[in-house]
Amino acid sequence: MSTPQAPAASPTDAGKPASSREVLAEARRRRTFAVISHPDAGKSTLTEALALHAKVISEAGAVHGKAGRKSTVSDWMEMEKARGISVSSTALQFNYSSPESGEPGADGDADIVNVINLVDTPGHSDFSEDTYRVLTAVDAAVMLIDAAKGLEPQTLKLFQVCRHRGIPVITVINKWDRPGRAPLELLDEIDERIGLTPTPLFWPVGIAGDFRGLLRRGTGDAAGEAVEYIRFTRTAGGAKIAPEENLSPDEALEREGDTWTEAAEEAELLSASGQDHDQEMFLAGQTSPVIFASAMLNFGVRQILDTLVALAPPPGARLDIADKPRNVDDAFSAVVFKVQAGMDTAHRDRLAFMRVVSGVFERGMVVTHAQTGKPFATKYALTVFGRERTTVENAYPGDVVGLVNATALAPGHTLYVEPKVEFPPIPSFAPEHFAILRAESASKYKQFRKAVDQLDSEGVVQILRNDIRGDASPVMAAVGPMQFEVVAARMKAEYNVDPKIEPLGYALARRTDPASEVELNRQRGVEVFTRSDGVLLALVSDKWRLQYIQKELPDLTLEPLVAAT
Ligand code: GDP
Repeated sequence: MSTPQAPAASPTDAGKPASSREVLAEARRRRTFAVISHPDAGKSTLTEALALHAKVISEAGAVHGKAGRKSTVSDWMEMEKARGISVSSTALQFNYSSPESGEPGADGDADIVNVINLVDTPGHSDFSEDTYRVLTAVDAAVMLIDAAKGLEPQTLKLFQVCRHRGIPVITVINKWDRPGRAPLELLDEIDERIGLTPTPLFWPVGIAGDFRGLLRRGTGDAAGEAVEYIRFTRTAGGAKIAPEENLSPDEALEREGDTWTEAAEEAELLSASGQDHDQEMFLAGQTSPVIFASAMLNFGVRQILDTLVALAPPPGARLDIADKPRNVDDAFSAVVFKVQAGMDTAHRDRLAFMRVVSGVFERGMVVTHAQTGKPFATKYALTVFGRERTTVENAYPGDVVGLVNATALAPGHTLYVEPKVEFPPIPSFAPEHFAILRAESASKYKQFRKAVDQLDSEGVVQILRNDIRGDASPVMAAVGPMQFEVVAARMKAEYNVDPKIEPLGYALARRTDPASEVELNRQRGVEVFTRSDGVLLALVSDKWRLQYIQKELPDLTLEPLVAAT
């Protein structure tokens, strides 16, 4: 990756010190986002295609390249290999310049090289709280939808987290190169099921399965009009950037005939129902710009990058626990959003990933850990993507940095340079998997207890207890079931205890209160626990039982948690 040239400061920064101008300019050219999708929608393919467009790699396939790679094989990686999943990807950073100013994606200043941070959302069987936590580290999300399948469960859950956090969402309808649903039907589904108004910036020319190109819809005064036709040409296997031709509407009509006319009519119809882009509504999470694409053929991928650059917000101020903003040009601060331990057993390392909120990060600087007040030396700072680890020398707001051997750091923690700041903790998300954890023998109980406390404080799983079950068999609650295996593997490797894990037959958790506790415990299929943060949770066997109780005993408190199904 080449070193980006320092961008010019904007006139509004005049009067600020040079260091402040530098941070503001660096923040302004950054876009930090995540892809939210259901497994198989094409997230890996899209990631490769985006990187290809940004010229990080010259041919798609290199990021996830498996052949000929020598790697340290740790237990973790064994687990990764066995399951064919990637537990270690975290963030991909690349430079991108919108090719033409005046394009929908160009930000009007052709000189600016943008820095794109794509933060990975673990999403297959490794779906866990981390998947949700990543969304606390981004400024925008790309909701990737399979054209044949529409909205799927995992996408919906992640979307709810975006909505809850006010993260603007750009919708990408993928796999348009193969037969799928009608575009208007897909848009209706988004509108009706999640109450998000889709506002296509581009409209597909050619039905799903016969993808020829994209019609660019006008904005502002030209809202809805077909402004341009971007015609794509297939390359072998989609391994290279698909060549694009830019045609006027007249040329498009000549080239595509009725197919163009149909697309142009549909694109205009959308305006009649108010489906035109409005930046304020997009930032408020009420509308979502839509792009049709084929990640595999590299169609529409440049348009996704251009849209991110043009519309997604750059890193901005973040509110601290007292609701006071920490501005991007204030002294350094960052939030830890993910901790990964045991990725490399040879080194017993523990990586804490932080997102820079304000100021400049320089490797080696000593920062303060807000939760303990202790100094933290940042000698080992990395970026991790796939199996690649690269040392980071400095980073700006929006960037993701991995800190090695960060034993005291947990998700939600703050690091800062004076003046002090502490950001609000990351909320716990609604667990859907529950299991009892038991020590193998009484003699190991002390170690067991220590391990449980440590993994709980790291946020690997949520630990629930109640008087009936007692301390020796706490209940683990997690967003994804793989977390239980992570707990077992880490307890064994790091604490030399081999716990027993028994699944527990509950499927949902709801927040409750002391006034409802006794009555809830009397119900069949319900059990109340105290989570380590003091919150009372009622675990319920299934949604029908929940509906029944809510109907029969409407006075009991049973509130959904974030991302509840
Ligand atoms: P992920 O699980 O979301 O990361 O999905 P992948 O990127 O691994 O893609 C899942 C499958 O869909 C793979 O077989 C891809 O080759 C295929 N795929 C991804 N994008 C496209 C696309 O645009 N068109 C077609 N036809 N297939 C695609």
